[in-house]
Amino acid sequence: MDRNGYKGDILIVDDTPENLTLLTEMLKQEGYKVRSVTKGSTALRGAQAAPPGVILLDVNMPEMNGYEVCRQLKLHDRTRDIPVIFISALGDVLDKVKAFEVGGVDYITKPFQIAEVKARITTHLTVCRLQQQLQVQNLQLQAEIRERQQAEDKFAKVFRTSPHPIAITTHSEGRFVEVNPAFLQLTGYTQSEIVELTVADLNLDIDHDSQTIYNQECELRTKLGKKRTVLLSLENIELDGVPCILNLVNDITQRKRLENEFISVVSHELRTPLSSLMGALDVLGTGQLGSLNNQGQSVLNIAITSTERLTRLINDILDLERLKFGKITLHLAQCDLAQAMIQATEGMQAMANHAQVQLQLQPLSVMLWADCDRLIQTFTNLLSNAIKFSEPGKTVWLDAEMKSADSVLLTVRDQGRGIPADKLDLIFDRFQQVDTSDNRAKGGTGLGLAICRSIVEQHQGKIWVESTLGQGSTFFVALPLALPDKSYE
Ligand code: ADP
Repeated sequence: MDRNGYKGDILIVDDTPENLTLLTEMLKQEGYKVRSVTKGSTALRGAQAAPPGVILLDVNMPEMNGYEVCRQLKLHDRTRDIPVIFISALGDVLDKVKAFEVGGVDYITKPFQIAEVKARITTHLTVCRLQQQLQVQNLQLQAEIRERQQAEDKFAKVFRTSPHPIAITTHSEGRFVEVNPAFLQLTGYTQSEIVELTVADLNLDIDHDSQTIYNQECELRTKLGKKRTVLLSLENIELDGVPCILNLVNDITQRKRLENEFISVVSHELRTPLSSLMGALDVLGTGQLGSLNNQGQSVLNIAITSTERLTRLINDILDLERLKFGKITLHLAQCDLAQAMIQATEGMQAMANHAQVQLQLQPLSVMLWADCDRLIQTFTNLLSNAIKFSEPGKTVWLDAEMKSADSVLLTVRDQGRGIPADKLDLIFDRFQQVDTSDNRAKGGTGLGLAICRSIVEQHQGKIWVESTLGQGSTFFVALPLALPDKSYE
């Protein structure tokens, strides 16, 4: 049905008026809109002006026969696709081959069987409609493909030209699937080499429990074995149904080096005037230059406390920098863990007494291949924190046990205020404190745990903390009894 309620629009071309009338009446009754003409030239004009759905075309006509009319219809865009059904009278010779050659789709012969005429017209109208629909869909599809292609090209270009290294890795194994040129440049690998590797080969296998990671600092290992400091951001994505990870890398090696140099230069420069300041304050304190009244003495004490704190901070910064850059070589020797634990506890006894905190020690006598002084420094730091964050009357325990045949686990447990879950990892980073007021109130620098971690990691060990807010914290230090071969040299 068309818009006007007709089954279709038909143009009949026949030079015999009786035929015309008969067909026209027949088809009108069937619900078709029918136009009829007796000459080929009129038919061509009519079809041009308003293309019908189907043309019924007599073969034998004076002036222009049906074949010629059909041929001309096929020459013009506007009329090319109209299906043409040839009509031939009984006794006429219908050249079927020619009829199809010039573009006819079918033929009917007189006398007409109304059912047959109807069936053929319906068939060709349907075929024609379906063809038109296909064409429209085809055009739409092509447009969509073009749009997608353009969008894909755009993103592929962004990926290729991004100055930031980008890599896509599989979620399961961390295998490289796709990387951009900036990533290849940073790592020194070629495209064919990188797809054989996983993130672990580049030291980028950070533990992230499928969560989004934003700017986590890592040490990337290049093909030549060089270290680059990078900020790594991770996002889960799905590619062709495969769970993958989008790795965005930001190389901050240069910035990091400048930052470290700056810290270390500034700290060095501060150390000299600070020690002469300390010396001067000590001289004032001895009274050699005249005695101070009580008020003068308490001002001097404030100056001494502050100077000591500043000295501690600067020493910690320098220590950490040296540890981080491997400028400090561990003095490895046989070290009795029990002795180290006892020394650290003895060193902290005065502070514990002052804070009215009880120290409980359970030494474990086992020989470690380690830098004993550095281990004592680590235990001292952990004990000092445990005492610092405990109320008077509480206890701090220093224990150790064999973790396996070749490693020990040392614990420092307190009943202090505890550490919030989201800070448990953070506090091992430098200048990280749970509360910024800790700095002033407790005299800390926020560097102690960073130094502990550096020392423990240089011993191929691990340090971590478990804590319950308001109930206390336990710091764990796992250490191997012996270091891997190369550390013995
Ligand atoms: P600081 O010099 O501030 O102690 P650290 O690196 O040793 O620096 O510790 C960092 C922060 O971790 C502390 O400021 C404190 O907020 C928290 N912290 C460390 N140890 C404990 C502990 N035993 N109990 C509660 N909080 C702790």
